[in-house]
Amino acid sequence: MTATLAAGVDEPAPRSEAPECIALLTPTGRDAAVATRVLANAGLDASACPDMSALCHFVHDGVGAVLIAEEALDAQASAMLLAELAEQPAWSDLPIVVLTGEGELSRTIPRALDQLASHANVTLLERPIRVATIVTVLRSALRARRRQYDVREHLLERLEILERERTARRHAEAANQAKSEFLAMMSHELRTPLNAIGGYAQLLEMGVRGPVTALQREDLERIERSQRHLLGLINDVLNFAKLEAGRVQFAITRVPLRDIFLGVEALVLPQLHAKGLRYVDAGECRDILVHADEEKARQVLINLLSNAVKFTPAGGKIGLACSVDDQWVYTTVTDSGMGIPPDRLEAIFEPFVQVDRGLTSRQEGTGLGLAISRDLARHMGGDLTAASVIGEGSAFTLSLPRA
Ligand code: ADP
Repeated sequence: MTATLAAGVDEPAPRSEAPECIALLTPTGRDAAVATRVLANAGLDASACPDMSALCHFVHDGVGAVLIAEEALDAQASAMLLAELAEQPAWSDLPIVVLTGEGELSRTIPRALDQLASHANVTLLERPIRVATIVTVLRSALRARRRQYDVREHLLERLEILERERTARRHAEAANQAKSEFLAMMSHELRTPLNAIGGYAQLLEMGVRGPVTALQREDLERIERSQRHLLGLINDVLNFAKLEAGRVQFAITRVPLRDIFLGVEALVLPQLHAKGLRYVDAGECRDILVHADEEKARQVLINLLSNAVKFTPAGGKIGLACSVDDQWVYTTVTDSGMGIPPDRLEAIFEPFVQVDRGLTSRQEGTGLGLAISRDLARHMGGDLTAASVIGEGSAFTLSLPRA
């Protein structure tokens, strides 16, 4: 099929009407003239062909049906017609009406005719035939042919739609890849001067360039805070771009939960205490082994705990708990913070999404932390999910395969 159907899929194919013309082949010129006239009277458009080669040209260019007298179908002509039919596209099943000799159908069918009948859409009519019969048969043949053209149109439309979808997907993937590469490159370029800013601010603070006044020290600390903040944002963007571009390597091993927790609390507890939050550690299953990249799993938990601290007002409570079943180990970070509206619970895992920029704009962040964390969890064969009640708090659960 495909040669004809696939041709020109980039541009919309012109809608083609089914041909209504009937190609006629009868060996004697007089028969042809009479037949053409009779069919014309019945409103059928017939064209007489002088020989099989001419008829095959007609078929090649597109006809509605073919009417052939059996005498015109010797072995050679039959082979020529079969060869032409083989060239037709797969959706095409050209109706061929063959007028056999008188009493022909009661005897054995000649070989050439038999071969044609078994390879093509052939109707045999035994002469003498009433005009009404032949007209009816030809009209049915033309109707069948129109249906074939309809199917062809339908197939062409589907193919074009499919091709357009494929092209759009290819473009989107290429654009996404280019975006990730750009972000990775930009982030890298931005980190170099930022590190210099931090480094020189520290040198000044240490008094390397001379004594520093108390006010200058305060300013230097502000510079360093801003530098750390900006570096944090850029690291988020870089990490995300690397994940998107598939450039992050995972070293998955069997690791006790205890090792993943190690360092997490040490990093988060100072922020937590500074904000006057209570910390409840209900991690009872620290000896359980999980399949994970230790560093990446730790990164996820640090992100969850930092968010919990960030979005919980002073005096609130942060918790870390774990549970297991046959397949999974669940680590849940809970908080008694502001909570997340139910219709945003999935969106917050999308890159750059923050629940309410107005409300949280006082909070630092890119809206990338959870997107990165979920990606990391899924690359380790696990997942990251959220549950929350507005005004009461949130719970984020990292599930990892049990080892
Ligand atoms: P960021 O913290 O940098 O904004 P995240 O992807 O970590 O980015 O979080 C996206 C958003 O999800 C946050 O801006 C916040 O609106 C919401 N969110 C995340 N964790 C919590 C939480 N524990 N409580 C309330 N809202 C949260």
